[in-house]
Amino acid sequence: MVKTTIVGFPRIGEFRELKFATEAFFRGDSTTKDLLQKGKELRKKHWQLLKDSGIDEITSNDFSFYDTTLDTACLFNIVPAAVRSLALTPLEEYFALARGYQGEKGDVKARPMKKWFNTNYHYLTPKIEASTNVRVVGTKIFDEYQEAKSLGIETRPVILGPFTFLQLAEIDDDVNQEKLIIQLTVAYQEVFSKLDNLGAKWIQLDEPGLVKDLSTEQVNVFETLYQNLLVDKPLNVLIQTYFGDVRDVYHSLITLPVDAIGLDFVEGKQTKALLTSGFPEDKILYAGVVNGKNIWRNQFEQTLLQVKDFQNKKLVLSTSCSLLHVPYTTDNESFSPEIVNYFSFAKEKLEELKVLASLVEHKEMHLLQQNKALFAAKRFDENSELKEKLEQLTAKDFERSPDFEQRRLIQKNVFQLPDLPTTTIGSFPQTKEVKQNRSKWKKGEIDQQHYEQFIEKQIKEWLEWQESIDLDVLVHGEFERNDMVEYFGQQLDGYLFSKNGWVQSYGTRGVKPPIIWSDITRKAPITVKWSAFAQSQTKKVVKGMLTGPVTILNWSFPREDVSTKESTLQLALAIQEEVLDLEKNGIRMIQIDEAALREKLPLRQSDWYSEYLDWAIPAFRLIHSKVKPETQIHTHMCYSEFTDILSAIDQMDADVISFEASRSNLAILDELVRRHFKTAVGPGVYDIHSPRIPSVEELTTTIHEIIKKVPREKIWINPDCGLKTRGIVETKASLANMTKAVAAIREE
Ligand code: GLN
Ligand code: ZN
Repeated sequence: MVKTTIVGFPRIGEFRELKFATEAFFRGDSTTKDLLQKGKELRKKHWQLLKDSGIDEITSNDFSFYDTTLDTACLFNIVPAAVRSLALTPLEEYFALARGYQGEKGDVKARPMKKWFNTNYHYLTPKIEASTNVRVVGTKIFDEYQEAKSLGIETRPVILGPFTFLQLAEIDDDVNQEKLIIQLTVAYQEVFSKLDNLGAKWIQLDEPGLVKDLSTEQVNVFETLYQNLLVDKPLNVLIQTYFGDVRDVYHSLITLPVDAIGLDFVEGKQTKALLTSGFPEDKILYAGVVNGKNIWRNQFEQTLLQVKDFQNKKLVLSTSCSLLHVPYTTDNESFSPEIVNYFSFAKEKLEELKVLASLVEHKEMHLLQQNKALFAAKRFDENSELKEKLEQLTAKDFERSPDFEQRRLIQKNVFQLPDLPTTTIGSFPQTKEVKQNRSKWKKGEIDQQHYEQFIEKQIKEWLEWQESIDLDVLVHGEFERNDMVEYFGQQLDGYLFSKNGWVQSYGTRGVKPPIIWSDITRKAPITVKWSAFAQSQTKKVVKGMLTGPVTILNWSFPREDVSTKESTLQLALAIQEEVLDLEKNGIRMIQIDEAALREKLPLRQSDWYSEYLDWAIPAFRLIHSKVKPETQIHTHMCYSEFTDILSAIDQMDADVISFEASRSNLAILDELVRRHFKTAVGPGVYDIHSPRIPSVEELTTTIHEIIKKVPREKIWINPDCGLKTRGIVETKASLANMTKAVAAIREE
């Protein structure tokens, strides 16, 4: 019988138990013992579920109190000296790396967090210093293997592989690379032999780093690393790849003395073709055929085709990546049966694997028929009008005229803004009061009128305050919004929302992505009412505030029956209607946020344009192509590096862009100049992720630095991002300092 396994299981728990337990621990409301106990309970529950579902090979060490990359660093004694010198307990040290430590033993910052490949999960970057002594000091991987064993469950421990680990680590310049690689190899080997001593038969080494574009040199590094690592290995090794195909190292991979290779059939476009070129008889293929990133039911017929040539060979059916990226179960949702039938969260994906294993052997064929019938049936009525609209789009719909320079002159005249205009990114603090108002209204405890009066009052007060500090372009503050994507999703046709569909984003933080169910259209104007109200309260310009189509899509679970490009264009048309309505209602500046533009940028640079930017950028242009020349379009970006996609950003043809810049010490400025960036820019002058208040002097220095590099008439002054997560006191103090700094510079 064909076996089944998974790459990894979500650890936050069916009801986010781990989040609540960990946060209680952070607050000091529970003890270390309580937290460890909760971890143990969750692991037991998850292993038992896998076992009860009939999954043949079960993983361990995919659990984590914060992040598995951090776990790997701690296992190997990779802790920066500054943190080590605080002499914390191991758990304190672990959380100090994750979240920083400020207490009686000292003060250290958290390790930087980065996006995990093309997902919305974030890992903590390991730091290797010259003084780092790589050796096995952690016990988590061994403890968890034994813990499962004592429950009668044999597992395959999982750990991040050395190639990807080195790719993700920040390695100081003075580190002796050769020595580092030797130490790391020895350390992995020690893990192998310790696991072997405990009775483990297998280890899984995760190597998602292999799906990126790799140079010959990198391929050689990989080969040498693994050839050394696998010498006399005492247990079976599975090299597990995911998030794409391994075209650059496939040959090396299959010639290595490993026992099994895990490949991604979902995102790996060339996986099937690579296998056709040959796969060694003596190795087991772990076929990642059940999508670990999306929530739709598997189409069995297609999947069976993928693995057809392997049914009589050594085959294990698996997920395309860890199930970490999907919610736990549909059991706690209240979708109707006709709808929920189409969904498969982590728990349901386990059943799918079992069914697929039967089908590969031509058993239970009625389940294949059922599945075919499900996908053959009409899920919703296609919107033919929308389809036609999309088909009729021509190049002109994606070009705004007149061109940038002419618009700039017209707008300069219309707005008469002062030198170095000041503004903010959109949201003001979502205080407890603001959140309570919304939740009371949702529960029906207050009526619409009271709800709206409260928001109007907030808007008025904040507008007055913005005028009082002499800000040039104002915002209404986004008090009516819970989240920049969910808010729009809720007012568009075609979206569904889960009640409990949480996915870990980082540490204890989760997101609940909305689901794109069908064609997307705008039911009615979304933001016009609040923007128009705000504009009616002041003589200054108030920016309209929208979320862009690429960001809405990237933070949703997308459809699988149409391309992301098509869904994005549908969203773009909906947002275009909103833009034109705002304009009609007297809104003269409109900001369209594309915070997550970079999120789905392909992992291979060679695919950046052809598979993504070539439609994502035009989708943005579509939204504003029909506005009047005197309407000023802004956009905003954050959460990522974008120095390398600056020319694509310029092609969005916005009039102004604001972006996060302060934490990278404005490193992006040189690149703007070098690339003759056309769009006017508002590089964030202070970090909004910290409650710290920047002084007038500090802001003055920062602004001077910007002026030194960027032509003055192109510069806007604003914070890094929206202020919704900040408190009122620091928000007001920081912004007041910002306008004071600008006033002084204007005088100079
Ligand atoms: N306009 C949004 C806000 O200010 C932008 C948020 C974001 O970029 N993440 O909150
Ligand atoms: Zn932002």
